[in-house]
Amino acid sequence: GDLAEIEARVSVCRACERLVEWREEVAHSKRASFADQPYWGRPIPGWGAAAPRILIAGLAPAANGGNRTGRVFTGDRSGDWLFAALHRVGLANQPTSIHAGDGLKLHATRMIAAVRCAPPANKPTPVERDTCAPWFRRELELVLPSTRVIICLGKFGYDALLSGLASLGIAVPKPRPKFGHAVEHQLGGVTVIGCFHPSQQNTFTGRLTEPMTDAILTRARHLAQV
Ligand code: SF4
Repeated sequence: GDLAEIEARVSVCRACERLVEWREEVAHSKRASFADQPYWGRPIPGWGAAAPRILIAGLAPAANGGNRTGRVFTGDRSGDWLFAALHRVGLANQPTSIHAGDGLKLHATRMIAAVRCAPPANKPTPVERDTCAPWFRRELELVLPSTRVIICLGKFGYDALLSGLASLGIAVPKPRPKFGHAVEHQLGGVTVIGCFHPSQQNTFTGRLTEPMTDAILTRARHLAQV
């Protein structure tokens, strides 16, 4: 199957009872500021270029972000931060991500989450992560041939990505190479770059600044030659 087939199949997955309940409950109750908007409330497939050169990997969609828009990393503060940066470096055609019909496009870039349903407190259990791993692995397998650079947002996303790469037969050294902001590792034919997660916890405290984010994306563009 191809990406469209995975997208169709994953969007009806109900394998994790706790996450199905949460994604639907949030979609039903809605945050007050989004009360007039439809919520997707289902698993979130990867999004962006079908044959990307840059992959941006995270852990899971946000309850009122991706779980609302149906598009990973969009519609919440982390997404706002990320898309403003992607637009500044020329990897997105717009600086904002509002909803699935807003005309937003990524250049040579795809976004993908290791776990496809929004988890309570943004934290899937290890069992949920492992249950969703085959979806992640299958999509990774399809986009890896064109991918030159993978940016991992946060350590959880990084760990899931390394597991995904290992499951595809790519040699991951043991002990695993450490996650760090702007730290690069060569795995297979791909450069994996760590980036602090653009959560408010990091962006409000100055742990992750706009220049730091732009530097990672610019480096990725350079390595991927896009
Ligand atoms: Fe299915 Fe993944 Fe959602 Fe679990 S997290 S219900 S495996 S799509």
